Amino acid sequence: MDLLDQILPLVQKPARYTGGEWNIVRKDWDKVDIKVAFAFPDVYEVGMSHLGLQILYHIVNSRTDALMERVFAPWLDMEEKMREHNLPLFTLESFRPVRDFDVVAFTLQYEMCYSNVLNMLDLAGIPIKSNLRGEEHPLVIAGGPCAFNPEPLADFIDLFVIGEGEEAIGDFLDFLRNAKNRNLAKKDLLREAARVPGVYVPSLYRVEYREDGEISKVEPVLKGVPEIVKKRVVRDMDKVSFPTRPVVPSTEIVHDRIMIEVLRGCARGCRFCQAGMIYRPVREKKPATVLRQAAGLVRQTGYDEISLTSLSTSDYTPVRSVINALIKEHAGCGVSISLPSLRVDNFSMELAKEVQKVRRSSITLAPEAGTQRLRDVINKGVTEEDLMSATEVAFREGWQAVKLYFMIGLPTETNEDLDGIIHLAREALARGRKAGARRGRLRVTVSVSSFVPKPHTPFQWEPQASMAVLKERQAYLAAGLRERGLVFNYHDTAVSFMEAVFARGDRRLGAVLENAFQLGCKFDGWSENFHYERWLEAFRQAGLEPGWYAYRRYDYDSLLPWDHIGTGLSKQYLIREHQRAMAGKTTEDCRTGACTGCGLCSGLEVEPVYAGGERDVQLPDAIQ
Ligand code: SF4
Repeated sequence: MDLLDQILPLVQKPARYTGGEWNIVRKDWDKVDIKVAFAFPDVYEVGMSHLGLQILYHIVNSRTDALMERVFAPWLDMEEKMREHNLPLFTLESFRPVRDFDVVAFTLQYEMCYSNVLNMLDLAGIPIKSNLRGEEHPLVIAGGPCAFNPEPLADFIDLFVIGEGEEAIGDFLDFLRNAKNRNLAKKDLLREAARVPGVYVPSLYRVEYREDGEISKVEPVLKGVPEIVKKRVVRDMDKVSFPTRPVVPSTEIVHDRIMIEVLRGCARGCRFCQAGMIYRPVREKKPATVLRQAAGLVRQTGYDEISLTSLSTSDYTPVRSVINALIKEHAGCGVSISLPSLRVDNFSMELAKEVQKVRRSSITLAPEAGTQRLRDVINKGVTEEDLMSATEVAFREGWQAVKLYFMIGLPTETNEDLDGIIHLAREALARGRKAGARRGRLRVTVSVSSFVPKPHTPFQWEPQASMAVLKERQAYLAAGLRERGLVFNYHDTAVSFMEAVFARGDRRLGAVLENAFQLGCKFDGWSENFHYERWLEAFRQAGLEPGWYAYRRYDYDSLLPWDHIGTGLSKQYLIREHQRAMAGKTTEDCRTGACTGCGLCSGLEVEPVYAGGERDVQLPDAIQ
């Protein structure tokens, strides 16, 4: 601690490293069997905004035989000081070195955090490659959405947990305690771990390649190791443990409020969206559960805002009655309600009006594409009229600024679709003027990201548009969006390129990651720290061509690097959806229409759960 006390005054935002927050759990190290360091490969403010961390922290610390402590990636200035003084990476609860734990568990939310995973292991004094780690080193595990294509990290992670962590963690800790009691050597432990449902041990699989670089075979090297690792899925959102005493940071973080997940999954079937595919089926919490959890959280955190989170909160069947009940119960004490993810429709706008007691300065809508044709290709299910009326209502209700999210480089995109984006932005501005928004204040921000083909989606086979094309399209939009009141933001094309490479990558990319780490790559998701040249050098050193991963159209019959990771979705369904996309045909939502045969419910023996009843729940017209 002394050394830390000396360093902290020298770095930005020391609160990132001081711990001691409200509701943290400090356990007696000697009284528990299993010690887990939960490692978030980004800064404190980002990691602490992640609900999954709070959920797992709560579950593990509720057990008497285990403890979980938190560790985040130190910012560059802190890392420099730590390396200068030989201070190893430590957790925020006990300030113990991460290497003293039994398990270091990373959550992988974003491909561009992979370099941070390696850097954190190194800072902890743990060899980055799993085959160089001995019995004395912790077991390094990882989960989260990026674990659905774990291959680029296969050299560094001992085992991955595929699917929903709160479902798997109990079994995994039981297994671990048992293995520890039996003093199992790591090699044997990994062999046995591979039999725990949802656990993927990359070293127990052999990958063979063809001469053209394509994968020819992926197979387990031992009997009893599953050919396909199926994801774990929570069956009852009401019964699963949810933290009502979350850690409350003492410094400002990205999402500084109560977060209650009201439903998990999304059945709308946007064809680019990985979250929509891997978190199926839709499972809603009962209103009584949401209200009980909200009351507990208000009492235990002191926050003055409750955010109802999910991939699409206006889809939560009892949303209106739950909002009304929450307002009735908590508004009197100054607690407001917010809905971070709203669809572009009238129903969403009504909800926004209801909850917007404390008005934020801007409202965000995501039409994703500029024309109806392209919105049908991606299965967005939003019309221009939906968007315009939502914008008009927002301005009429007193919002001064609207943010519109789009994607460029989507499959089949043409200049007409770009013109559509320009048209929608100008039209939104015109509606704002008509609605009487104040001229100087009125603002329509167009934020444009680049399409990244993601594993387990209908667009997984599609190439990414080249950086040159994406840049051209960005310039085209910039020229068309030059007008007072319009703001244009776009993403760095090189970052999106690397994201595509690692999203669709195979285990040969491990060599690239190791080189990139040696070349000093870290915090690549932060544009100021992303050094494209270093990444190209890392590829050159490994003798690999990044464009091969991002720009290639994958064949339906190619073996994909993530084919042995099972989401429950059938490949036939993804192919069918891809073909429908190319034909411009939409597919309806299985919660409002018939089952569209994604294969998940039968494959995983799970069913969609709607809190308002079965599928006959009456949804408002606007979202049907
Ligand atoms: S199997 Fe049918 S009902 Fe189940 S999630 Fe897929 S489309 Fe929906």
